[in-house]
Formats: sequence, structure tokens, C-alpha cells
Amino acid sequence: MQDAPLLISNILRHGQLTHGESQVITIEAGGHRSATFDEVAGRAEKLAKALRRLGVKDGDRVGTFCWNNQGHMEAYLAIPCMGAVLHTLNIRLPAEQLAYVINHAEDRVIIVDGSLVPLLAAVKDDLKTVETIIVVGDGDTSALGETLSYEALLAAEEPGFEWPDLDERSAAAMCYTSGTTGNPKGVVYSHRSTWLHTMAEQAASSIGMTEEDRILIIVPMFHANAWGTPYAAWLAGTDMLMPQMYLMGEHLAAIFNEYHPTLACGVPTIWNGLLQLDKPVDFSSVRAITAGGAAVPQALIEGFEKRFGATIIQGWGMTETSPLAAFGLPPARRLEGHDDMYYKIKAGRVVPGVEIRVVAEDGSVLPNDGTSVGEFEARGPWVTGSYYKDEDPDRFHDGWLRTGDVGCLDEQGYMTISDRTKDVIKSGGEWISSVELENAVMAYPDVFEAAVIAVPDHKWSERPLVAVVPKPGKTLDPSALVAFLKDRVPRWWLPEQWAFIEEIPKTSVGKFDKKVMRAAFADGAYAVHKVDLPK
Ligand code: ADP
Repeated sequence: MQDAPLLISNILRHGQLTHGESQVITIEAGGHRSATFDEVAGRAEKLAKALRRLGVKDGDRVGTFCWNNQGHMEAYLAIPCMGAVLHTLNIRLPAEQLAYVINHAEDRVIIVDGSLVPLLAAVKDDLKTVETIIVVGDGDTSALGETLSYEALLAAEEPGFEWPDLDERSAAAMCYTSGTTGNPKGVVYSHRSTWLHTMAEQAASSIGMTEEDRILIIVPMFHANAWGTPYAAWLAGTDMLMPQMYLMGEHLAAIFNEYHPTLACGVPTIWNGLLQLDKPVDFSSVRAITAGGAAVPQALIEGFEKRFGATIIQGWGMTETSPLAAFGLPPARRLEGHDDMYYKIKAGRVVPGVEIRVVAEDGSVLPNDGTSVGEFEARGPWVTGSYYKDEDPDRFHDGWLRTGDVGCLDEQGYMTISDRTKDVIKSGGEWISSVELENAVMAYPDVFEAAVIAVPDHKWSERPLVAVVPKPGKTLDPSALVAFLKDRVPRWWLPEQWAFIEEIPKTSVGKFDKKVMRAAFADGAYAVHKVDLPK
């Protein structure tokens, strides 16, 4: 066979030549802007030329500080295909972490959306390697000092760029973890890993997009490459709906009503916001909704089925796994005694190409029997083998990545995530799954959201504390909640400590921020209600 390298420029050319009429649609105030794949590819060529003219060489890092929009898609194509490295910057990182990741990656150029200029300007004086800032769209750029206009740069170039033949193992993109559990760590994706990941995403055992589809990409393009959906959609000729900053329930409802996506991807908190919205939402065009990045509560899956007639398919992955590693389509052959919901609430089924195993604390590999609980380890061609300039030998051993997630695998490869190692609750020597407990609480009708953390206990070492946000206008009685949980979780899991709060703190990518919650509890910021547990 020919030894053709697996390059993102293959993906670019395929979408351009084969699906030239497919569209990238960017939502804007009061309307939208659309461009064909052919136009987007032509603009990517001009962007590559402009970056080359600015001195960007192979391997140089070019940061993007952007919403999900057409310009960001152009950067996704131009930067890796020209041989540079796309560094997607998380626009919600705290300032010091943002400066840290830009300096750590040594970004030379940053492309920033006009609306995000103030956030970047806040760290400008701390940036050590950035030489050029390119601003997309309107906005007052004065706070950034000298900048270049994205449109002016493109206007000065002719289309056409000879995409170079690169080593498929060279760096194409990098993304830092959101730092939920420490400082952000850099993960570098190669052309080869991105190509293979895109194929996996395109498989029928995953979402399998086609030209008939139109995907609403809510998960940010700075968060694990929007789960790989931009490249997969480009390869398949799937129309992409880019929501920019229009991410609140009302905006999303309007997008569903007007633009009729067939697919949409987002974290559970986004879907919960839409489910609770008291406005009509037209889901008639939708064939599947995907959710991941955090556990998807059963109540959310049921709520979507009931209200919208829509299926939520759950996936599991991490920045370190590109991220797709498990995807939750139900099996054709169901194991006896397992109903639909058994599969739907799983984090996903291991996707072809990735291997997952469960490892006990003593290092032994546990059986895939659906009950043996340990830490997940992963390996495969789109699982990272190290962090960028950051030795972390604890996370990598014998070619496996220690994921920091705890749970079990069943005989058919479906994963149950019970916790992150950092969040487990060890009560009397036994583990209580904070995730399962949260899901059980969130099934209570008047609960909007709930998160569970471990709090110290002199008798049991740790006990669960449940922080609950009631639905608007509702008050909750902790004893009634405990009574509700009685038949839903093991007796010794029943939480005696409850706090009713206005909002669960979230990380920059919309996950419950348990680090912040534990600190709030330790500072006495939570008014804790103690309940007598039923005998
Ligand atoms: P960070 O590690 O910075 O929070 P990631 O997006 O890489 O950002 O997060 C990966 C983590 O998200 C996983 O290790 C896991 O804990 C969690 N996660 C992802 N998908 C699921 C899921 N379906 N169910 C439960 N947890 C999930």
C-alpha cells in the first residue's frame, strides 16, 4: 500500500472538493452569516498565506481565543494544514491560568474575536512570547495596543495555498485541560491522531454524521476540539451551526426553532438549562443529542424523552483522549435483565481503536463484569502518551494513561463512571459514588441541580454533603429528599447533611466545580441542614 501520511490537509481537501456546497452557519445578533465549505476553505488558504507572511513557521504555536464561529473553523483548517500548531485557548480560564497556558505553549500569534478583546487585554502585559494579535470582527481593540485586522489580512491575499507534506506525527493542535483538578496541562494532538480520531467519530458505531445532517456545535471549540465535531462534520459534509455566545436556553431554543439541526452536542448543564426553559422548542428535526464531559443524569435523559421525544446519547472522554473514547449507542444484543435505561445512563461503550481497562488500587487488572470498581486506564492512537513539557509520571505507565476516573466496565464494554479519584467519598472504608447520589437527588421533581462532595466525619472518615439548587419558586425539605432517596440508593449512602444554595459553582467548561465547593464548605459558607436518617 502507498505510505500516504494521515494529514489534516486530507480532511480539508476532501470537504472542499466533495462537499463544497455544505455550510458553516454562524449565529449573530438578530440573524446569521453563512459560508459554503468551498468559501471557508478559500479563506483558510488566505489565512495560511497571511500567517506565513507574518513569519509563522512549521511548529509555531498560533493561539485562538474565539467563540464557535466561521473564523474559528478557518483557523482550525489553516493553522495545522500549513504546519503550525493550533492552540485553542479557553476563553473562560481565570486570567492567571490564561497567561500561564499562553506562555507555557509559547504562542507567537493569537487570533481573537473582537467581542473577547477585553478578556485577552487583561493578561496582555504578562504574555512573554506573543508577537502578533489578529482581531476578528468588530470591537474596540485599543486595550490590546497594536493589532492586525483578520479581514484586512485576508483581503490582501489571493486564494490558493500549497499545503505542505508534513510528517503525520508532527503536532497539529494543542489543548490544555481545564484545570478542574490542578493546573492546566497541555495535550498535543498530531495530524495522525486527529485523522484517526475523526474516522472514529465518523463511524456508524459513533455519531456517524452525513451530508444530510446539520450539527449544532455547542461544546466550545476550545474544549477538546469541540469533541472533534468540526473535523468530522467537515469530512462528512455536515452543515455546522456555530452558536458563538448565544448559549443560554432561550438562544438555543431559537436556534432549534429556526435552523432545525439534526444533531447537537453539549455538556449536561446546557441541556438541563434548555429542558427547564418554559418556552416552546421544536425538536422535530433532531435525530440525536450528544452529551458528555460530566455524568448525564437519568432525570435529564427521561426529561428530554418526555418533553422533546429526543434521545440523549452519552459519551465519555477527556482532553487527553482527543476526546472520544466511549459512545453510548445501545447494543443490538442486550444482556438479560438490562432495559434501555441501563444502557442510556452508562457513560458510553468503548469505541473501536481505544482500549480501556479497570485497575485496582494494588495495580491488578479487574474483570469487565459490570461490578468490579477501580480506576480506568486508556490507551490508543488518539490517547496522549505525555503532557507537553510537564512530566507527570503518575499519569502514564506501561503505555497506559491513568484517567483519574473511577468506575466499572461491563461485559459489552459499557462504562459506568462513579467518580473522579479526587471526588470519591470514602465512608467507613467503602466508596459512595457522588455521581450516582447526585443523579438520584436530581430525579426529585423540585430539584434543579445537585452536587455531592465528601466532608470530613470523625466516625466514618468522610460523609456526603449534598448541595441542592431548588427549581425557581420551590422550597425543599431535606427530610422529604431523604425519604425519596431511601429506596433509590444503599442505606448507608443516605446523606444526613444538606445545603440549599443558589447555584452550583461550575468550571470553565461547565462542570460542577467540587474544588470550589469543598473550599466553600471548609470556609463555613454553606448553611448545613442536618437530617435524622430513617432507622
Ligand atoms: P478537565 O479534566 O480539565 O475537567 P476534560 O474535559 O478533559 O476536562 O474532562 C474529562 C473528564 O470529564 C473525565 O475524566 C471525566 O471525569 C469527565 N467525564 C467526561 N465524560 C463523562 C461522562 N459521560 N460521565 C461522567 N464523567 C465524564
